[in-house]
Amino acid sequence: MTVRVRYAPSPTGSPHVGNIRDALFKHLLAKHHKGVNILRIEDTDRTRYIEGAERDIMESLHWMGIQWTEGPDVGGPHGPYRQSERKEAGIYAHWINVLLERGLAYKAFDTSQELEEMREYQQINKQPVGYFGGVWRDATPEAVEKAEKEGKPFVIRQRIPRNETVVIHDFIRGRIEWDTNTVDDPVLIKADGMPTYHFAAMVDDHLMEITHIIRGEEWISSAPKHALLFDAFGWERPVFVHCPVIKGKDGKKLSKRHGDTRCLDYRAAGYMPEALANFIALIGWSPGEDREILSMDELAEAFDLGGLQPSPGVFDIDKLRWMNGNYIRALSPEALTATVKQYLTVPDIEEYFTRIPEGADAPIDAAMPAAVALMREAFEKTPELAATALLLEQPRVTTLSEFATACMFFFQEEPPFDEKAVEKWFGQPHVGPMIEHFQKWSSGLQAATLEDCEKAVRDYAEANSFDKMGPVVHPIRVALTGKTVGPGLFELMSALGPQVMAKRFQRALGRIAKANV
Ligand code: GLU
Repeated sequence: MTVRVRYAPSPTGSPHVGNIRDALFKHLLAKHHKGVNILRIEDTDRTRYIEGAERDIMESLHWMGIQWTEGPDVGGPHGPYRQSERKEAGIYAHWINVLLERGLAYKAFDTSQELEEMREYQQINKQPVGYFGGVWRDATPEAVEKAEKEGKPFVIRQRIPRNETVVIHDFIRGRIEWDTNTVDDPVLIKADGMPTYHFAAMVDDHLMEITHIIRGEEWISSAPKHALLFDAFGWERPVFVHCPVIKGKDGKKLSKRHGDTRCLDYRAAGYMPEALANFIALIGWSPGEDREILSMDELAEAFDLGGLQPSPGVFDIDKLRWMNGNYIRALSPEALTATVKQYLTVPDIEEYFTRIPEGADAPIDAAMPAAVALMREAFEKTPELAATALLLEQPRVTTLSEFATACMFFFQEEPPFDEKAVEKWFGQPHVGPMIEHFQKWSSGLQAATLEDCEKAVRDYAEANSFDKMGPVVHPIRVALTGKTVGPGLFELMSALGPQVMAKRFQRALGRIAKANV
């Protein structure tokens, strides 16, 4: 049997982490079994439709490296792959008629006020709330005909059998059963003729020969309806796989507070898709071994539904940062440059960093767009320096955007001084003569290799009887970079080159003079 799965998003917004995990699991399962992954757009709820959401869905999937073999963009033997188009093609009309003819679905003409009254009555009388029949489930054909002739709006509901037990065998949870008297009759076709999720998704899952319905556990309560719908048609049921929700570290359902942001926000923030995929795959799924860093191919190789955990997966942003740092450090120099250059072309970096997240009172990082712009410019004007700067910062950064901030001092004409560092070092009596020495030293050079720089600093320390390197190294670093932290001093001296060094030492002398008045 070929494994056939589908990712079936509703275009109601840009996909979030939970949506992407859903898509990723299907991609991995299909890849593992050399099966088929389908992208199906469930756009029948026009009230929740968001323009541009489908584009964001595809862009997110492409960026993450999640593939599909059938879908609205690539076509396939079971098209169309947008439910609105399937509706236009008469697919749902055909199948609802089959159910109506068999008496397994019925038209219900209740007004919204009548439904409201029913709900109130049920609540007051502590009865299960929902449509368990009303007046229409067993209405006479004459009554139905009359209502139809009068042009009354109606929905078509599924006739759930009563006094039975419905059982599903969920792949993760095993056997689950319901008394059908607790299962209400869901709407299959709405008054505007549009199918509901309950109907369209199940009909499509059958017609598209889906073998596993993998979806969030919020759909478990709908599973008996769906299983009964398959039974009503006499179709073989697919395997139901309900994945547990994702929670924050505090045990609460994942929300924006925990970083439940759009997938594309992670791209703008500077996460690598490989790291995000690795991280997301391990939320609620385990390869059954300790390995934590797995490429997409390794994930697909290891992926099986048996590794899905019944308990909620935990979203831990610190782990994602750690993982992303790992992926960054694993890049070869060429790949590092290519990855960062690619990142610099991401269109919504500025929008992302200047946005004020819900519940926050400041933008994510208002200074970031300027740093990113500087880095773009550096790649145009001094590509070699830009590439070296990346290499020197590679051991420390955790996101691609952090390169922009960390490398700024390489590209700025006059990197600002950290006032605390100035206060700590520039008032010390040995610093003025020392920086003057290095200013002269650098002005006389054509080039400065790493060894030249190291030798110059060590010779100076020895000649001036410093028994520790700190008082030598730190002020030089502050003079050159404005900061007390950064890459190895000799490496950065060599990367800046003699001319820039000379200029910066000169400028530092001005600050040192001021610090000593
Ligand atoms: N359109 C549904 C959603 O976006 C799909 C659920 C499913 O995978 O069956 O929630």
